[in-house]
Amino acid sequence: MIELPESNTLARQINEILVGKRITSVQAGASPHKFAWYHGGPADYAERLVNNHFISARGVGIFVEITLSKVMLLFSDGVNQRWHPSAGPIPKKHQLLLGLDDDTFFSASLSMYGGLYCWEHKEPFENFYYTVALEKPSPLTERFDLAYFSGLLSPTEVQSLSLKAALATKQSIPGLGNGCLQDILWQAHLHPKRKTSTLTEDEIQALFSSLKNTLAEMARQGGRATEKDLFGKPGGYPVVMCAASKGQPCPQCGTPIFKEAFMGGSIYTCRVCQPLDAQE
Ligand SMILES: [Zn+2]
Repeated sequence: MIELPESNTLARQINEILVGKRITSVQAGASPHKFAWYHGGPADYAERLVNNHFISARGVGIFVEITLSKVMLLFSDGVNQRWHPSAGPIPKKHQLLLGLDDDTFFSASLSMYGGLYCWEHKEPFENFYYTVALEKPSPLTERFDLAYFSGLLSPTEVQSLSLKAALATKQSIPGLGNGCLQDILWQAHLHPKRKTSTLTEDEIQALFSSLKNTLAEMARQGGRATEKDLFGKPGGYPVVMCAASKGQPCPQCGTPIFKEAFMGGSIYTCRVCQPLDAQE
């Protein structure tokens, strides 16, 4: 699933490649999918989208938001966005296929679930996750500073949570999910199960720096290598803590990387670099 570094990468690539192009043909909902969400029904999409030009794109949390000349187009995580021919042949199954005026195609297809929203500029559009992501500062911007980050961790109800729950659930930091979190915590030498209330000032500072630097580095390198970009290529950021690294030596100390289930997902840790000693 894409997170903030990948939504920003896709948006940057759309700005580089698609801006200025005109949509000449539209297929929406060609491959029915139980968990594909549209704004209204896909039947209207051809009329809404045809003859629009790509104006600009940006990453908003887990979303890629595309401004077209007459409508907005918004893709959530779980939607594979590809430009063809660079990304190879058009996939057999797709939930949105746009033909462009240079005879190339843009496809959007789902893995498990995802939103493909299209609405006119003057039309109201509501989506809870999108609204929250628009309102809260992105960790990739200067507005997300140490004071803001400390403020996120200070409420009593957050203090009682694990770091994974505090940072990567409930839209606490839109665009930050369990995937990116693993490397952030490893770099900060903090365990995902650590209770937020046990953090020292120095640890909060280290966590803040790691969160900002790791996400910025992931975005700079075109996303994580575990995800694919607009051209179907893996991102350039080599993820340290992921499924493929289970049992591999920790790059810092050589201890085998440990995988365990926690809060409905897998966490990957180094038991030496990220001790849980101070805990209960
Ligand atoms: Zn280690």
